[in-house]
Amino acid sequence: MCNLHSRRAFVVGGLSSLITFNGADAQFHAGKACGAAMGVAPPAGFTPTTGNSTLDKAIIGELQIIRRLIPANPMFKFYDDSQSPNAMAYSPSPAGQLPIPMIQGTWGLVVLGLTLMRAELAPATGGIALAGILAHEVGHIWQFQYPALERDLRGDTARNQELHADYMAGFYFGREGRRNANDIEVFSRSLFNKGSYNFNNRDFHGTPEQRVTAMKLGYSQGRTGGDVGDIAYQGIQIVRNIR
Ligand SMILES: [Zn+2]
Repeated sequence: MCNLHSRRAFVVGGLSSLITFNGADAQFHAGKACGAAMGVAPPAGFTPTTGNSTLDKAIIGELQIIRRLIPANPMFKFYDDSQSPNAMAYSPSPAGQLPIPMIQGTWGLVVLGLTLMRAELAPATGGIALAGILAHEVGHIWQFQYPALERDLRGDTARNQELHADYMAGFYFGREGRRNANDIEVFSRSLFNKGSYNFNNRDFHGTPEQRVTAMKLGYSQGRTGGDVGDIAYQGIQIVRNIR
């Protein structure tokens, strides 16, 4: 009942490309991306569509590829984030914390704010940044599936969890193999703009430089052809070592 997209929509969506999507014209300023690690309450309401069926298909198509390369299968929803542009990932554990019932075969929930989405898509090349945000969120779902990994990333701030999700987004682009150096720079700029120097803030996601570094290290790992699980576990120490 709550499933946003039917299986048919996923299949059709696979034919589209978010990377080449260029349909947004609004100018927004995005805030932080991702409240996954901080226990932020899920939004109360969801919308089943961006309002643009072509974009819906492009996003679902991109998610389909992401979930194949980063083994995780979260539910996916859009929401109104006009008060605080964001995208978030939620674990279904402990049971009962998700705002909607889990669909059989899915694990966790990724929500994408429409304001953040429009902001990322405002530049002609914005599809690549949005694809990276989606991969970042699915990276969190992957973390949540492995409590030991999540525990090893935990700290006084969200830094290591967030840098690891950036690393996994980089892994996605490296493994997916269709992105050129310019695409990676586009995503780098998007990440750079979301970094901060609020080192003592519990929600600290990493500095602009650290976020870009984590993503590029993941990209290099993705290009190696190694096992995704091995690469993800190696990423714990890799992001800890980023200064
Ligand atoms: Zn995050």
